[in-house]
Amino acid sequence: MIFVLKPGVAQPKIDDFAQRLEERGFKTFLSTGTEHTVVCLIGNTASIDMDAVVETNDIVEYGRRVTEPYKAVNRNVHPADTMVKVGEVVFGQGMFQVISGPCSVESEEQIIAVARSVKASGATLLRGGAFKPRTSPYAFKGLQEEGLRLLLLAKRETGLPIVTEVMNQTQLPLFEDIDVIQIGARNMQNFDLLREVGRFNKPVLLKRGLANTLEELLMSAEYILSEGNNQVILCERGIRTFETATRNTLDISAVPLLKQKSHLPVIVDPSHAAGLRGLVSPLARAAVAVGADGLMIETHNDPANALSDGAQSLDLLQFDVLMQDLKARIEFEGKCLGN
Ligand code: PEP
Ligand code: MN
Repeated sequence: MIFVLKPGVAQPKIDDFAQRLEERGFKTFLSTGTEHTVVCLIGNTASIDMDAVVETNDIVEYGRRVTEPYKAVNRNVHPADTMVKVGEVVFGQGMFQVISGPCSVESEEQIIAVARSVKASGATLLRGGAFKPRTSPYAFKGLQEEGLRLLLLAKRETGLPIVTEVMNQTQLPLFEDIDVIQIGARNMQNFDLLREVGRFNKPVLLKRGLANTLEELLMSAEYILSEGNNQVILCERGIRTFETATRNTLDISAVPLLKQKSHLPVIVDPSHAAGLRGLVSPLARAAVAVGADGLMIETHNDPANALSDGAQSLDLLQFDVLMQDLKARIEFEGKCLGN
């Protein structure tokens, strides 16, 4: 249940209203919009007489029951788009960001070369896996702490903020200087990890699980917001279906659906969706057309010899060609690339 307050109510009155609801056994959180503050009530609200609350509290404009299980991420609770700020770089509210870089950080030469090139092409954040979740225990697991160090070196060289994946909560202290914490598809329902990143006070990129519904994705985001961190970017990266021609199936309708249901920014990762570099550009264009707030695209200076995901990685020239093509499309959608 939510109570939308009248415009301009003073904070002490809001706090007092929320506290009285908490005394009745509910958890509350506030969503502050440009005009209205919304008080959201979590718990079994069946016992609450909503109309009586509205009538007896003159700061309340109206109440509404939120039937979806996700509350904090719900567009009904927070009608305006949430802006996720990574320094100067903003996701949401008409801004469009492109995260690019290799699947795995492999060496200093590699990450610096890729970072410089993708920046020149127009990418606004650098990605690169330092801790890699791999299906085979014998596959390359990433350079780990050394990988994080190299990413920060690339940031110093180019100024690009860094997006990289954390695999478990014990690694989090190593991520203090990382700009965006990625939760990978395989960890989308690692609820302890979600809680920890909810307390970590850094933007989170939450990828959809391999076989998870949109409601499950939103519930995972809810874990992070319910710990006090609303800086969450959702990422559609393809789901498992009966189709084997592609690595996964890009669920393009996820983008407008997520944006209808939630106020969080939504980006698309066409690389992991397709698994094939020839599909990355068409899928990226589709993502722009359906209203995504950004893209994550794997790039490599030598895809044929990449230690992971070479088949889906664009080389640096292919990425440049794609970016030149996307710029006009992003503008056509009324969005603005960069900051
Ligand atoms: C990745 O982005 O490197 C990655 C492992 O992606 P996903 O979790 O979507 O498979
Ligand atoms: Mn990858």
